Amino acid sequence: MRSSFDLHAHSTASDGTLTPRELICRAQAGGVEVMALTDHDTLEGVAEAADAAREVGIGFVPGVEISVTWQSLTIHIVGLNVAADDTRLNTGLAGLREFRDWRAEEIGRRLAAKGIDGAFEGARALSNGRLISRTHFARFLVDNGHASDVRAVFKKYLVNGKPGYVPGEWAELEDAVRWIRLSGGQAVIAHPARYPLTRTKLRRLIGEFVEVGGAALEVVSGSHSKDDYFTMAHHARDFGLLASAGSDYHGPEQPWIELGRLPELPQGCKPIWKDWPISH
Ligand code: AMP
Ligand code: MN
Ligand code: MN
Ligand code: MN
Repeated sequence: MRSSFDLHAHSTASDGTLTPRELICRAQAGGVEVMALTDHDTLEGVAEAADAAREVGIGFVPGVEISVTWQSLTIHIVGLNVAADDTRLNTGLAGLREFRDWRAEEIGRRLAAKGIDGAFEGARALSNGRLISRTHFARFLVDNGHASDVRAVFKKYLVNGKPGYVPGEWAELEDAVRWIRLSGGQAVIAHPARYPLTRTKLRRLIGEFVEVGGAALEVVSGSHSKDDYFTMAHHARDFGLLASAGSDYHGPEQPWIELGRLPELPQGCKPIWKDWPISH
């Protein structure tokens, strides 16, 4: 029950708690043979991770997880094997980080209106100072006793309809896929079973994704159930998409997700790495 490919993980460049180097070392120790770094809306950690992977002797895939707004919902599109120095991709991501910066201040203002002071400064202090995620707000709120753990705090403050939720104005699906492809990468719908979408709407999303040049569904994800693997494998086959696998690791604070512990893709899936030179 091990897959040697882990194509979705976060570092301190976004909302993970391990540095890119620490992440790669942990992946190597966990038996991962090919690891991708896919931070939210940034490629900042890619160079360090690539160096570390070369040093410890595992394969490395430069990646990113792009925030997209699709029909008022936030959807995540992973780009794999992107060129980290690509101008159009970096310009697109810089625009998203600008929205993120404004949103972080807005979350702070909204929480302040509910009597929670200093959340923006607190979240920023837990981040690298260049990319602030809701995860950083969650950690600040837990540290300050507003909920018992990160999951509870999201439910109470940070999801749609709660005081610290600011509706996203992220990338268009088509733009995210285009940036990824222009930089030589392949686009993957991240954790497709996690969105609050009916089967019909999810298939509409997948259909649009195929039309704009998407390559794969993340069939195996750390946030999917066994049933989800098979449902998503079925959708991938129906739409002629490749299948990807990634833990969505954010750090050792979430011990239920670990690098190098993913099951194999279900039978009949075409792995996204089937034509990668790195896998030979
Ligand atoms: P952001 O892109 O800043 O809106 O933050 C999204 C990140 O927050 C996701 O990538 C997860 O790491 C985390 N997240 C979102 N929803 C939850 C949740 N319900 N419980 C725990 N973490 C969550
Ligand atoms: Mn995250
Ligand atoms: Mn995601
Ligand atoms: Mn992720």
